[in-house]
Amino acid sequence: MSATLAIVNANIKTMNPKQPVAQALAIKGNKIIKVGTNGDIEPFIGDNTRVLHLEGKTVLPGFIDTHIHVADYGRCLMWLDLTGAKSIADLQQLIKEKAKTMLSDRWIIGQGWNETRFTEQRPPTVAELDEAAASNPVILYREAAMICAANTKAIQLAGVTEQTQPPAGGAIDKTPEGKLAGVFRDTAANLIWQAVPEPTEDELLEATAYASQKIFQAGITSINWLVISESELSIIQKLHEQDRLLFRVNVVVPEALLEKAVALKSKSNEILRVGGAFIVTDGYLDSKEAALQKPYSDDPANSGKMLLSEEQLEAQVKRALAFGVQPVIHAMGDKAIDTTLGVIERNKKDGVRFRIEQAAVLNMPLIKRLKQQGAVVTIQPKVITTEFAVWSANQRLGNRARLLHPLKTLLDEGVNVAAGSDCPMEPLSALLGVEEMVTRQSYPEQRLSIDEALRLYTVNAAYSSGEEAAKGSLEEGKLADITILSKDLSEVPTGEIKDVAVDFVVLNGMLLVVT
Ligand SMILES: [Zn+2]
Repeated sequence: MSATLAIVNANIKTMNPKQPVAQALAIKGNKIIKVGTNGDIEPFIGDNTRVLHLEGKTVLPGFIDTHIHVADYGRCLMWLDLTGAKSIADLQQLIKEKAKTMLSDRWIIGQGWNETRFTEQRPPTVAELDEAAASNPVILYREAAMICAANTKAIQLAGVTEQTQPPAGGAIDKTPEGKLAGVFRDTAANLIWQAVPEPTEDELLEATAYASQKIFQAGITSINWLVISESELSIIQKLHEQDRLLFRVNVVVPEALLEKAVALKSKSNEILRVGGAFIVTDGYLDSKEAALQKPYSDDPANSGKMLLSEEQLEAQVKRALAFGVQPVIHAMGDKAIDTTLGVIERNKKDGVRFRIEQAAVLNMPLIKRLKQQGAVVTIQPKVITTEFAVWSANQRLGNRARLLHPLKTLLDEGVNVAAGSDCPMEPLSALLGVEEMVTRQSYPEQRLSIDEALRLYTVNAAYSSGEEAAKGSLEEGKLADITILSKDLSEVPTGEIKDVAVDFVVLNGMLLVVT
């Protein structure tokens, strides 16, 4: 039997404990047929076999991102990137060029300006933005903050005047003369944003197709697509029908939209499946809305809150199971996790793998119950870092902070943990996620090794959606989904893991060059 594709002279990390490393592998069609030494693969090389000599490059199972919002990511990619602007004149130039490519009534949406990088050391004024684009409405978000700058057209369309009062938690900048300065802060930024029209389905389709290319270029061969809106379901179906999905997709639909996903579910094949129902039990820690068993340490009257009663949660879980998909349950605080585990304990049946998203605030009894129920924990490494960076976990949680996102403890206790990006909220990059987990600063005893971190994006991620028999490791009989890196991650400084290039991707047995 001769292979269609053979990879030789490689540094292969299989993620298969029975054969952790190898030198070569052979693929026929979309499956791996042999893993071993160059000599082992030689008999499979025939006249029509494409042979890829890798000169020691690193070969991994294709990365799997367990949490990405592809349509939102596509929308963000369409925005004007302002991170390179070093002055207000630079900013104006970028807007002018963008305006030339657009109809005069279309919104110019930008992101990434930062006045500390400007020679002027201040945000742009309304007049400066009007000078760059008078007829197009312009809204430009600042980097790493809920602050936007807008031109006159945008302010008019939003119905904002000098008399408009900022909403609670927001601020509207004024000039010394009391005129609008064009800068809107925190909740006041939404005054402008709400005037931006929703993209048409065609615009969203093109944006999403563009996002798909970026995902493929990041070496990601499978994703869990967290759907936010109903319109995404028909976009996924169109991309699928047009063969424009450059990775496998496990669609995770909000529980309330399950009925709308019937048509898409009927199109399931090896590339696409509707596999999960998203259920939200509580909020986030940064806004103190994660449900805790005991109050926040810096706010004795507040324990956060459950967004669902136990009965409501159980009803949603039962509906997901009846629909034939995995319950994917967001539970952040220990109370939410405890309630979720109670529901899992009552509804556990063979063949069902429950997934808890975040499972952030833990303690040893909860960790033991996670293990006992075979519940999978899915996390987003950059989200964890951001959480620790933006507020003091110790102040807010006291002793509980020690077991906040305790990744190493979870793995040591035998809980399956898998990782994703939460792109576009955080950057899309499995390698960045690996770097974050191996260089963790808060509670460094929870750091992972590079191999452990890679498992979260490969074999554990496949397990998290019940697809471990087909993918996640490089073994005979599994799907040929492979990511090829320019360097071995253990040979670069840990702070440079994110910069290692993805050179090739093999998806479904097809070799694709990443440029
Ligand atoms: Zn998300």
